[in-house]
Amino acid sequence: MSREIPIGSAVRTEAIINRYFVRAKKNLGQNFLVDVDTIKGIVEAAGVQADDQVIEIGPGIGSLTEQLLLAGAKVFAYEVDENLPQILQNELPDQINGASLNERFKLLMKDILKADFKNDLAGFFDLNKPIKVVANLPYYITTPIIFFLNQAELNFASLTLMMQKEVAARLSAQPNSKEYGPLTIAVQTQMSVQDALTVSHNSFVPRPKVDSSVVVLTPLENKPDVGDVKHFNWVVKMCFAQRRKTLNNNLKNLIPDQTVREQLIDALGVDARVRPEQLTIAQFIQIARAIPVSE
Ligand code: SAM
Repeated sequence: MSREIPIGSAVRTEAIINRYFVRAKKNLGQNFLVDVDTIKGIVEAAGVQADDQVIEIGPGIGSLTEQLLLAGAKVFAYEVDENLPQILQNELPDQINGASLNERFKLLMKDILKADFKNDLAGFFDLNKPIKVVANLPYYITTPIIFFLNQAELNFASLTLMMQKEVAARLSAQPNSKEYGPLTIAVQTQMSVQDALTVSHNSFVPRPKVDSSVVVLTPLENKPDVGDVKHFNWVVKMCFAQRRKTLNNNLKNLIPDQTVREQLIDALGVDARVRPEQLTIAQFIQIARAIPVSE
């Protein structure tokens, strides 16, 4: 089939699936996007411009990769499915604005959760310049990926991420809601959250059960001082370990001494029976500061 037709169109995707006998792997969260308008919408939401450096997580058969390249980005992709490199090499355009595919695209077969960005990207990206992440995330590890990116020491310009709608709602949640939790707090202490697109489940093959959202996360200029980010995220997770229980109960493992615990809760200026979802981000920062960082 002509390469003029975008990979993300239903006909081209079907042709690729048939040609390479692709079977979408559920255990790798493979739901391929087949909606060119949506794919272009993601590239637009990410504000991709000529020569932007973009990390893509899970290029699949290349539908989003192709549009990122056509928009002028240099793309470094992480993938784990060994069947995909050959498809990507064959199906992505050979030439993009006069440059060869290999100059503009690099694929690393590596679990994104094991990424060592500075070493992986060296030689392909200029690490002094900001980097964008753009991805249709594998849903089975959406939350670990967001935590991983959140804790990574890389100069991110933005993260434009497609995820299940329910997870996206957690990113912009406010206290006293069921969506508010460790993911919300990890993200909101580091980044601003902007909902960009809602994507129907009909835009994928195979079709997932639920709709998706595209969210743009941009690092805050003035981040609150949470201290050590990993420690902070860990303390928040411990506070929510049993979300129906009181904060006092959840803090027992972190602060075994009841008097010390009560003094901390008192210093937060809240009722002794407060539940974790009732606390503000500032109060979690206060809690994390009161607990020593473990080695
Ligand atoms: N970008 C393609 C698209 O939009 O059609 C595919 C998106 S699909 C939802 C998720 C992709 O992530 C798949 O290609 C899958 O193989 C890949 N993937 C799954 N687990 C991964 C991991 N741990 N690290 C990197 N990529 C992963």
